[in-house]
Amino acid sequence: MAKERRTRREFLGLAGAGVASVATGANFDSVVFGQSNDVDKAPQAADLVVYNANIYTVDGNAPKVQAFAIRDGRFALVGSNENAKRMIGKGTQTLDAKRMTIVPGFIDCHNHAGGNILLYEVLVGNPFMVEFVTIASIIEKLRAKAQATPPGFWVDGYFFDDTKVKDDRQLNVHDLDQVSKDHPVVVHHRGGHTSFYNSKALELANISKDTPNPPGGTYDRDPTGELNGRITDRARTVFDKIGNRATFTEQQKEQRNRDGLAHISKQFTRFGLTSVHHEGGDLLALQQVRAGGELRHRVSYEVSGSLLEAMIANGIMTGFGDEWIKLGATSEHTVDGSFSERTMAISRPYLDITPPYKGNVTETQDDLNAWVERVHRAGIQVNCHANGDVAIDMVLTAYERAQKLYPLPDPRPKITHCTLINDDLLKRIKAVGAVPAAFTTYAYYNTDKFHFYGEDFMKRSMAYRSFLDAGIPAAAGSDFSPGPFAPLMGIQGMVTRTGWNGQTWGANQRISVDEALRVNTLNGAYASYEERIKGSIAVGKLADFVILAEDPHLVDQGKIKDIEIVRTVAGGTTVYEA
Ligand SMILES: [Zn+2]
Repeated sequence: MAKERRTRREFLGLAGAGVASVATGANFDSVVFGQSNDVDKAPQAADLVVYNANIYTVDGNAPKVQAFAIRDGRFALVGSNENAKRMIGKGTQTLDAKRMTIVPGFIDCHNHAGGNILLYEVLVGNPFMVEFVTIASIIEKLRAKAQATPPGFWVDGYFFDDTKVKDDRQLNVHDLDQVSKDHPVVVHHRGGHTSFYNSKALELANISKDTPNPPGGTYDRDPTGELNGRITDRARTVFDKIGNRATFTEQQKEQRNRDGLAHISKQFTRFGLTSVHHEGGDLLALQQVRAGGELRHRVSYEVSGSLLEAMIANGIMTGFGDEWIKLGATSEHTVDGSFSERTMAISRPYLDITPPYKGNVTETQDDLNAWVERVHRAGIQVNCHANGDVAIDMVLTAYERAQKLYPLPDPRPKITHCTLINDDLLKRIKAVGAVPAAFTTYAYYNTDKFHFYGEDFMKRSMAYRSFLDAGIPAAAGSDFSPGPFAPLMGIQGMVTRTGWNGQTWGANQRISVDEALRVNTLNGAYASYEERIKGSIAVGKLADFVILAEDPHLVDQGKIKDIEIVRTVAGGTTVYEA
């Protein structure tokens, strides 16, 4: 009886408050706060009430609920249909979810967010999903570009993936000579650590078959000793100084950067991402895109170069900014090569490569120690890229050293990728409080590359099971463009460890759907010190969520990646709708 009476009073209170706010034109909250001494006051009306849903909150206190109410961009109530509907007042929008599944907005902790490339460049592979292309199609696309480009200017191709080629052989210098002999031509592997050049580019860079490999990179050769056009990691820096590139006015550059960011923001939300850690990019353009109302996702902006120097010099620490654009960790400080392109630094030689090759270490321990110490002392969250066990060991050595010299209470240094682990590394990651942002979509997308490493390695790679069992809050780091960023593709891979080709690798590292949801949401929030404001559906947190057409717990696990994203909501506002 008492409950019923209260409900009626609440309802009347709601109507009154609604009228008051309209009448004064004041902010709704301030009107209600003015009456807050009345203990018996009505709960405030919500902006949006979502009910009749199948909600996985990723909140241990109430993991499964039916409904929630949102006010001022945050969850104001999370619970039953009945309770949520009590917050419907004048002006409240309502949404009957018709039993569809809702999860917190997904968080990607490592993304190169190259919107300009998606918009303006020649894409020789599919950025978002598994698709096989022919070498002929690559030549054809680049030839068309060359025909519209003055001789001597670079012709670039992006999103090449050497294991998504129908021809079943490596792209080489002869293929690219068919594009042009008058232009330097380069095809960039989507992994970002290897590129393929034509003869003109090699000639302009003065590289011959007799040129020795520089530290941290290689000029690859075919079996007869001739350059085959593939060049890895640091050996590519000579190409920065040769050939001509299209120039743009400052104004044009800014416009392109804005268009690129607005474009990729749309792409992120289309796949359910509401927060993304950006590896650098144009910070001004990012703020302009936000001001123009075209930023649909939240950004943890990871710094390097002059901005990092400015932060250190001026005492600006990680966390500066607001809930939409915030300065995060540093961008990945690279210590070794790539997993997908087989240049990461590992403790035993790669299979079937002569002379024996153990990958590229791209930084000395002393230089790494000095860099980590400097950033750590400045109160900026350190973030290093380390794939192989050798590189992870080096990074941990530097983190342990910095933390010993200048102990910080909660440093959470990031290890981007943190791919190949062992028991000793796991203990040290846990002890120093590091947060790995491991590959997400690779287990599905890159399964065609795992034979280069073998099952022994894959049992210890992208080791989400090992991380979680060791109490390490591993987060999701798609590494787009190297990997597609679709969180559902990532979740499917984490749960099944089975790739597009039906092969299963490292099944011991499988995690449950619930665990994979947490990795892609709450653990991502933890990685940027934002677990108090996002990453789960809980009262007081930012109202970031995704409506899925089907429940990933119930569909065939091989079809999780195909679940339709029905709606993506950030801060209570719909930012994508199917
Ligand atoms: Zn990266």
